[in-house]
Amino acid sequence: MDPNDIASELEQAARDEALSAARGRQRNLFRADCADCGDDLPPYRQVYGTCIDCQERREHMDKLRGKS
Ligand SMILES: [Zn+2]
Repeated sequence: MDPNDIASELEQAARDEALSAARGRQRNLFRADCADCGDDLPPYRQVYGTCIDCQERREHMDKLRGKS
C-alpha cells in the first residue's frame, strides 16, 4: 500500500473518532448530576449517575437490607 494512503486512512480514522466522541457528548449518555441529591457530578462520576456520598449511602442501605 502507498504510504500516503496509509497516512490519509489514519487521518480519516482519527477524524471519525473525534466525530463520534463529539456526538457522544451531545447525546449526553451519562447524567451530569446526581440521581439522588442533584449535585453536579465530576466527569468520572457521571458514568455512575450518583455522587460518592449517595453511592456510599446506597451501599450502606443495601448492607442494612442484607443484600450485600
Ligand atoms: Zn448525591
